This record gives sequence, C-alpha cells and structure tokens, in this order.
Amino acid sequence: MNFTGKTALVTGSGSGIGKSIALMFAQAGANVAINDVSQKDADSTAQEIESLGREAISIFANVAVQEEVREMFESVKSTFGQIDILVNNAGITRDGFLMKMTEDQWDQVIDVNLKGVFNCCKFAARMMSERQYGKIINIASASAQMGNIEQSNYAASKGGVISMTKTLAKELAQFHINVNAVSPGFIETPMTEKVPEKVKEYLIQQIPLGRAGKPEDVGNVVCFLASDQAAYVTGQVISCSGGMYVLVYKDFMVTDLTTANLSQEIMTKAKAFGAGVSTGLVNDIPSVAELVSRIASDAEKIIQERISGLSRRIEPGVHERRSLRREGNTCHLSVF
Ligand code: NAP
Repeated sequence: MNFTGKTALVTGSGSGIGKSIALMFAQAGANVAINDVSQKDADSTAQEIESLGREAISIFANVAVQEEVREMFESVKSTFGQIDILVNNAGITRDGFLMKMTEDQWDQVIDVNLKGVFNCCKFAARMMSERQYGKIINIASASAQMGNIEQSNYAASKGGVISMTKTLAKELAQFHINVNAVSPGFIETPMTEKVPEKVKEYLIQQIPLGRAGKPEDVGNVVCFLASDQAAYVTGQVISCSGGMYVLVYKDFMVTDLTTANLSQEIMTKAKAFGAGVSTGLVNDIPSVAELVSRIASDAEKIIQERISGLSRRIEPGVHERRSLRREGNTCHLSVF
C-alpha cells in the first residue's frame, strides 16, 4: 500500500487498534491526524508518527460532541488542507446485564460509538465531497453480528454502525466516497485487557484460527479498504475475527437424561456457551430445558418434533443450523 500525499484522520488513535492503524498509515506514507480523549496518548502517537518522517497533529476531541468534532475537522483542514481517509475507531464499552444496565451506561456507549460515527462522517463527507474523493472505514464489532451477553448497548451501537455504513455507501457513492466497515472479533488491546483470563481462554477456544487478534490484523484490513486497490468495494462489512463470526458452534452433551436435575444442567451449559458467544441462544434456554425433560419421558417422538421445530426457528445472522441427536441417555445439541 502507498498512501504518500494522503491525509488520514483516525479517531481514538491514542491506543489500541486506532494507534496501530495510524502508525500503519504513516509507515505507508500518509500524514495522520490523531484524535483521542487522552491528550497524552494522542501526543505520544503523533510523536511516533513524526519520528517516521511524516506530519502528524494530535487533536483532543470527544467524538460524541458535535461542536468538538466540527472544530477537529477545521484543524485538519487548516493543517493539511484536505482529508482523504477517515477511520471511525473511537469506541467504549460499559457492559452490564440488561436488567441492571443504567441509562447512563446505555447513553454513553450509544453517544460515543454511534453518534460519534455520525458526527465524524458528516464533517468528513463535506470535505471529501468537495474533492470527489474519500475513504471512510468504520470499526464495528462481531458483537453486533453475533450478539454478546451484557453488551446490549455495545452490540446495538455497533449494529447501528453497520447499518449506517451501508446507507452512507449508497448516499456518498455519487461523490466517489467509499464507505466500509471492519468488524473485529477478539483483539488484544487495552479494551480487552480487563477481560478475566478464564473468559479470554474460553473466547480463544471459539476462534477457528486459534488465537486472539492483534491490532495490526485489523490495521491490515483497514489499510486495504483505504487503498485504491479497494476502489470497487463499498458498503461492505469485512469480518476480522479469525473465523469467530463465521462459525458459531458448540456441542452440548447432557449426560444421563434420567436424572431429576436436567433442566439446571442444560441451563448452566447453555449459559456458559451464550456468555461468550451469542445471546441468541439465551432466548432458547427455557425451551431447551423443557425439551430435555420431555425427552426423558417420550424420547423419539419429542426429538422428531423438536428437530423440525428448531430448524424452523433459524434466526438469520445468529445461527445457521441447529441439530439435536440422542444416543441412549445422552442428548447432543449443536448450534452452528
Ligand atoms: P481501546 O484500546 O480502548 O482504544 C480506544 C481509544 O478510543 C482509546 O484511546 C480511548 O481513549 C479512545 N476514546 C474513547 N472515547 C472516545 C471519545 N469519546 N472520543 C475520542 N476518543 C475516544 O480500544 P480498542 O480495543 O483499540 O478498540 C478500538 C475500536 O475497535 C473500538 O471501536 C472498539 O469498539 C472496536 N473493537 C475492539 C475489539 C477488541 O477486541 N479490542 C473488538 C471489536 C471491536 P481512553 O482510553 O482515554 O478512553
């Protein structure tokens, strides 16, 4: 990739994925505007870029506040005269179970992750349309595509980003502005540092490529989408998750269908699965529990009924296939 002569603005680039993207742009020749709510982190990324021989400015701005974003774009214009690439990377999590989530947790995440993208796209599109050239890349999340327990606010915000990406691709194509999204899975950054070790291990087990992603893995996809090699790609969501999003699979094995505590056992196993992977399953827990207790009394008939019932209730984008099989006193439920 060669970005010589181009200017990129990367939001939230004081750390993590954003910092990596900013450095990769600079290594490929771009001048970069660094934005963050941590001035210290933004300054440090900007200094690293200058040490690579590129120009950089660091701008303190909260992407959720439109006036601050307007001023940020004015700074970019007065420093570089143009903007070629915008990466909407700034994002936060404020996780919590729905029934305990506060209004503030909900609002903060929607404001930064979704309204922030709206604010930045609005001013970037004005500048880019004047020059009939631009690349906008939004950082979404596999949580939006798969659902994730305790992330209703985050998943909704990123789902909104995906919808906005598709709409803006259509609106802005007339100005030769490409709008795409990259959807990371589990990436090692300060955001995921706080995830407990046991949960990390569990998540990594769900990744077909067998490892957590690195910020550069996401950066490579972003750089491609920002390049003219991707000139004919717009409105797309590119998953960068080591296969985590493609394949959602877990085989539950519920032993001894004759024991009294079956419902509890399957609930526990289903929750363990859902906790890391998909809220879609959680909706099914009562019916799965009911299913298993009924199997104990009227095995074959119920299995047949439920297999066809389950396959009728496929939720697009959440599960592609479910199957149930019984071997003696053992029931296997697979969710793909
Ligand atoms: P990170 O290390 O926490 O970096 C995010 C950066 O954005 C931080 O420097 C943060 O500053 C800054 N920021 C927060 N609120 C901001 C605001 N209102 N305005 C401007 N900057 C703000 O997180 P990351 O893991 O690199 O995540 C980057 C993006 O990837 C996010 O959109 C995230 O949702 C997405 N993503 C990450 C993963 C993952 O596994 N890491 C997976 C899927 C998607 P402070 O640190 O000072 O708050």
